[in-house]
Amino acid sequence: MDNAAIVSRGEKYVMRTYGRYPMALVRGEGARVWDADGNEYLDFVSGLAVNSLGHCHPRVVEAIREQAGRLIHCSNLYWIEPQVELARLLVENSALDKVFFCNSGAEANEAAIKLARKYAKEHRGPESYEIITMRRSFHGRTLATLTATGQEKFHHGFAPLPPGFRYVPFNDLSSLRAAVGPRTCAVMLEPVQGEGGVYAANKDYLQAVRALCDDEGLLLIFDEVQCGLGRTGYLFAYQYYEVEPDILTLAKALAGGVPIGAMLAKERAASAFAPGDHASTFGGNPLATAAGVAAFKALLQEGLVENARVLGQYFYQQLEGLAREFPQFIEVRGRGLLLGVEIDGPAGEVVAACQERGLLINSLHGHVLRFLPPLIVTREDIDRAVTILKEALHEVLGQGQK
Ligand SMILES: *Cc1c(COP(=O)(O)O)cnc(C)c1O
Repeated sequence: MDNAAIVSRGEKYVMRTYGRYPMALVRGEGARVWDADGNEYLDFVSGLAVNSLGHCHPRVVEAIREQAGRLIHCSNLYWIEPQVELARLLVENSALDKVFFCNSGAEANEAAIKLARKYAKEHRGPESYEIITMRRSFHGRTLATLTATGQEKFHHGFAPLPPGFRYVPFNDLSSLRAAVGPRTCAVMLEPVQGEGGVYAANKDYLQAVRALCDDEGLLLIFDEVQCGLGRTGYLFAYQYYEVEPDILTLAKALAGGVPIGAMLAKERAASAFAPGDHASTFGGNPLATAAGVAAFKALLQEGLVENARVLGQYFYQQLEGLAREFPQFIEVRGRGLLLGVEIDGPAGEVVAACQERGLLINSLHGHVLRFLPPLIVTREDIDRAVTILKEALHEVLGQGQK
């Protein structure tokens, strides 16, 4: 089937929850993908920060093939070696002590919310259940994580929402301090906000949030579903900030493209969960965790975190260069290879103009361009992307005036 055939059949049978581009992707290799009409694209969306190793990384493909022929699923009634191995790798490379596996970012955050409530009931009292989250945050689409998400547009139409969440502006310590009360049980935030428009936390802010949580006996939850696993140029974003969370959530890039989620916790918090308190049929299944072990080892052994740091800086400088050329550039933001550009102009049209020229990028809120290249990206890939972006900007915004 070609693009048109797949699109028309999809419109007939698939529920309309996504605004999709009218094309179907059929194959990927490294930083490139191909659509059903045979067009090639440089992929700076990376499956929304999932394909950090590029498409079809050979070590991930081999691990999936091998595991699929051995054992695909057996339930969590039994121990599973790849699950144990992925947990070991995560714990030994982070400041957290224990891992719960699930299948997505929303589920990882749901698990974090449950653990924080359970912990607070035992340590702060039965009335402590409120979690303070940030404006412009994104934590998922289940009812609890949707409510944790501090953007009203996602809430619209789904009332009544579960109680126990309140929002404060990001990077604003006094608002956070004022919001803490006897009902508070935890603070949850993304060190670098992704979906909300690409906003990085300030270092002194996160350090002060940690101190506030310690003073008040609150758990600090970092949602690194998008910004974790090398994306910011650090294995975990919290390492740049030199702030250790009590609970850390991961998903997206964790298994090289296979669905997975993980909620990590310090021992003190993790011990609030007893057998039966939380579960997931597919969570940590052999196939996903075998892919995860291969993906995590590739991330560490192939210098990809370092590459994200170095090429993230290079890409940032190139975008700053474009900012000098286009007065419509309002701000270049982000860390590592999680970058955004706010423009005074139609970001969606820029995305479409890039796509016509063979570059996939993404836009947020109509005026932010988001760039999520794979961590295997090369300087040449970035140069090519910047050349295409420049042409697209000229087409959509007109000639620069500076
Ligand atoms: C994508 C994302 C989620 C939700 O992950 P899903 O796998 O889509 O449920 C949660 N938090 C952040 C920061 C994300 O970027």
